[in-house]
Amino acid sequence: MRSILHSDANCFYASVEAVLNPELRDKAVAVCGSEEDRHGIVLAKSEKAKRAGVTTGMACWEARSKCPDIIIVKPHFEYYSKFSKYLHEIYQRYTDLVEPFGLDECWLDVTNCLKSPMEIAEEIRQTVKDELGLTVSIGVSFNKVFAKLGSDLKKPDAITEITEENFKSKIWGLPCSDLLYCGRSMTEKLKRIGVKTIGQIAELTHEYMMGKFGKAGSDLWIYANGLDNSQVAHKDHYEPAKSIGHGITCVSDIRKLDEGNKVIYALCQDIGYKLRAMKLRAKGVSLGIKYKDLTYQGYQVKLENPTQDEGFIAKTACEILKKHYDPMHIIRALTVTAINLEDEDANEQISMFFDYEEREKREKLNKVIDEIKREYGSAAIKPAIILDEDKMPSKEQGKVLPGKMHR
Ligand SMILES: [Mg+2]
Repeated sequence: MRSILHSDANCFYASVEAVLNPELRDKAVAVCGSEEDRHGIVLAKSEKAKRAGVTTGMACWEARSKCPDIIIVKPHFEYYSKFSKYLHEIYQRYTDLVEPFGLDECWLDVTNCLKSPMEIAEEIRQTVKDELGLTVSIGVSFNKVFAKLGSDLKKPDAITEITEENFKSKIWGLPCSDLLYCGRSMTEKLKRIGVKTIGQIAELTHEYMMGKFGKAGSDLWIYANGLDNSQVAHKDHYEPAKSIGHGITCVSDIRKLDEGNKVIYALCQDIGYKLRAMKLRAKGVSLGIKYKDLTYQGYQVKLENPTQDEGFIAKTACEILKKHYDPMHIIRALTVTAINLEDEDANEQISMFFDYEEREKREKLNKVIDEIKREYGSAAIKPAIILDEDKMPSKEQGKVLPGKMHR
């Protein structure tokens, strides 16, 4: 039997900020896209802010009204990726089979270690705290899916073991959506056939789930029954991040197109900054629209030329919004995601008509902007649209494809 750990750093961005600035420790902290109240959006929050009702994607002013003593800080993505590396270094003391899932989560395969998986989990929990000043929650199990689920069950600073003996009693009563890859739309479909818990998935037949939902249904049945046998990748296995910007949602009613455009530009500021900090380029943009009646639509667009420029990403997202905008349908939340990411040094296939000079100019400009932001905070520079709606960038980039998002 395999022994898999899934370690998840708790409130990662906010915790790193508290390590860098001890005055923030044990306080209600929100990491916000831009410091100014009107346009800032909460990217991450501390445990205390979370308890006060602050959620990711909330406007800063809203966070402040929920939690008046909240401390707003600007993001330092370069430190988050540094701390992510430090975490990996600790994990690699035990095994080379360390597979990251985002910046703050990792699977470890410790099957062939001398110490027991619970011992290792306990050591990691303590070491991360002592050496980095962060807390992690760890799931210990016999497959990746249950290890991941275990790390969500108790947090912060906790260990949960899910064994072959106890998984039915520990997991089967939980909602389907707790299962990895059981997204919003699948959860909705399952509900329609009366399936609400992981146990209910497990008790259907594999044939039924396969026939009804195809490969996704088959996978969920396998996961629910504890039969996931996917491997933990080797630490040197390189798989670039697939997307940046997911989960960054603006939660306030949007009743006009230009309000939506402003939110998009505010969201994209961070996406561009993050892409450049992580040396990645986006080959596509997706826009998620959640309406007041809680329905959700996702659209994605392929970019002809990969970019790390927030202006292009925002413009593309605004085009999608414009195309699908219906003034009668009030928008609750927008999510912009840079998708299909590639290394910035990757060999690009650039279309014949691409304006290299224009891109070089923009890249130089972005570097200067990043430096100013680091020096004076992200509120120092704002896209023109937030100040003046007529100043949208006009460069043509990307074509709107009719495709829908999977999740
Ligand atoms: Mg985390």
